[in-house]
Amino acid sequence: MRVDVVSIFPDYLAPLDLSLAGRARAAGLLEVRVHDLRDWTHDRHRTVDDTPAGGGAGMVMKPEPWGEALDEVLGERSTLVVPTPAGRPFDQATARELATREHLVFACGRYEGIDQRVVDHYASRVEVREVSIGDYVLNGGEVAALVVVEAVARLLPGFMGNAESLAEESHEDGLLEYPVYTKPASWRGHDVPPVLQSGDHGAIAAWRHDAALRRTAERRPDLAHPARLVGHGGVELV
Ligand code: SAM
Repeated sequence: MRVDVVSIFPDYLAPLDLSLAGRARAAGLLEVRVHDLRDWTHDRHRTVDDTPAGGGAGMVMKPEPWGEALDEVLGERSTLVVPTPAGRPFDQATARELATREHLVFACGRYEGIDQRVVDHYASRVEVREVSIGDYVLNGGEVAALVVVEAVARLLPGFMGNAESLAEESHEDGLLEYPVYTKPASWRGHDVPPVLQSGDHGAIAAWRHDAALRRTAERRPDLAHPARLVGHGGVELV
């Protein structure tokens, strides 16, 4: 997969050069390029923003530098990802979908966001996904781009050493993952649940399933479809 990120703060994307991209690059799975939007400006001040049409507070990112940048960076088969708090919620299903694409291009907004005509224009040329990483407002799209790239990259076939660990993770099956433990068996008076030390694989699987159901019902009732909330032996966990 190829990933291009366009931002006015390219240094913000430095973590992409660290472990994630490094590992994925070494494995030949991911190629990442970060671009400075200001490289596509033509005035002395390298201006990327202007006052909002219709008035109001703040500044809006001008369409011209974005148009020049995206004309250059997007290909015919690219997917343009635009982080915005007004986007559709980014979730594991979206990460799975994006992991099937060959080229993701991130347009990181700042200020009050990017002139909407940029999204409208490219929507007729390529797949465009406006995504929100949560119901809060960040200063810019860079952190959101890092979140999306990391969630997607770890789903690329061959990225995770142990693909099985992906299948059991939170949100993969619509449930939060069960609590996990390691050695020692007792720590500061807290014990690993005895069933996990029983060696009985059936009992362990049943305990984990019930624990995942209970956790989901308690913490994320919005995810907890009633049909899923029946534990082993038909026990109602809500
Ligand atoms: N005026 C915009 C609104 O109310 O929807 C908020 C703009 S925000 C201050 C600046 C940029 O941060 C956005 O263009 C977007 O790139 C990014 N951003 C902020 N919150 C985000 C979120 N929850 N998810 C994804 N991107 C976000």
